[in-house]
Amino acid sequence: MSPERQQMIRALFDEYIEMYASRDDRLTTRFSENFSGYAGSSSVLVKDREEWIKITRQDFAQVPERLGVEMLDLSMQEIGDNCAIVTAFFHIHLPLPDKFLSNETARLVLVFQREGADWKIAHSGISVPYRRAEDGEIYPIKSMQQRNHDLEAIVAERTQALERANRKLEELSNTDGLTGIANRRYFDRILQQEWNRAKRAGHTISLLMIDVDHFKRFNDNYGHLAGDACLQTFAQEMAKVARRGGELAARYGGEEFVMLLPDAAERDAVEIGRRIQEAVLSLDIPGVHLLPGTVTISIGIASRIPSKHENPASLVQQADRALYEAKRAGRNVIRTASERMA
Ligand code: GH3
Ligand code: MG
Ligand code: MG
Repeated sequence: MSPERQQMIRALFDEYIEMYASRDDRLTTRFSENFSGYAGSSSVLVKDREEWIKITRQDFAQVPERLGVEMLDLSMQEIGDNCAIVTAFFHIHLPLPDKFLSNETARLVLVFQREGADWKIAHSGISVPYRRAEDGEIYPIKSMQQRNHDLEAIVAERTQALERANRKLEELSNTDGLTGIANRRYFDRILQQEWNRAKRAGHTISLLMIDVDHFKRFNDNYGHLAGDACLQTFAQEMAKVARRGGELAARYGGEEFVMLLPDAAERDAVEIGRRIQEAVLSLDIPGVHLLPGTVTISIGIASRIPSKHENPASLVQQADRALYEAKRAGRNVIRTASERMA
């Protein structure tokens, strides 16, 4: 193609695109009497100029505001003296908040044909998402909106599923695998939390440290599986006793359990300790050969109003020492930190 011809065809094409983008009705005067074309969203070849003008106006009516056209690539081809083809790739930016068509690459093929002194458009074929438009649409806005809507629904659903999975995971990471009650990790967190709360409110926080008596012998006698079952039963009993809001029963480790009472004086804590002991005794789990009777537990209790310079570890330490005293006193007993001090 000669440079002059190339320039002239390019100018015709640019003029067409400008009229198309600015929704300029004069575009319709450029169609040849022999026009044929495909509107992108349909597979029907339109061979009637008047029909094509109608489609063009329908297009302008559907999106009356100026379109953004971002040219990506363009090529020209001369077919003899009176005919040239322009193939262009571009993005259409519809003036809609969701910019539905921005990421669809449209391909436009225009055939320019000399008719007397004029060059007319003899064929136009544009490919926007094919067969997706609904009645009265040139651009498939409704189906794209629907697709967007469906995608949003899927994202929302996945987000919820993820949140559920995360909650489950959080729950599992706070739960002791053997007994199903709270684990040490969760206890440490709640202890710190309740300690701070008691410190602010100036009320008494109590901790019970509970240890199964002679459990090693129990295992030796009945085996570890029976030992496990025994721990599971104890845990369930303790969880039943910890019923008031904020009270927490947790497995501290091995055959040791803790019970946290966020707002309970020492005598209330001792009362809870007795209830746990009774519950365990009433299980009537037979003791071992050299230790007749049933399986028992020992309990150490610490109660205090948190002071400025202390941390919750001091509460655990005091309950632990009280538990040691309970063991020394012969087991199956409750000892408090204040008795130790006395
Ligand atoms: P004490 O009265 O002084 O507490 O005696 P004890 O035998 O209970 O004391 P010790 O702490 O020496 O032993 C605890 C035993 O608990 C050791 C271990 O065999 C048993 N144990 C710890 N965790 C588990 C568990 O998950 N399952 C079973 N079956 N046994 C456990
Ligand atoms: Mg122990
Ligand atoms: Mg023990």
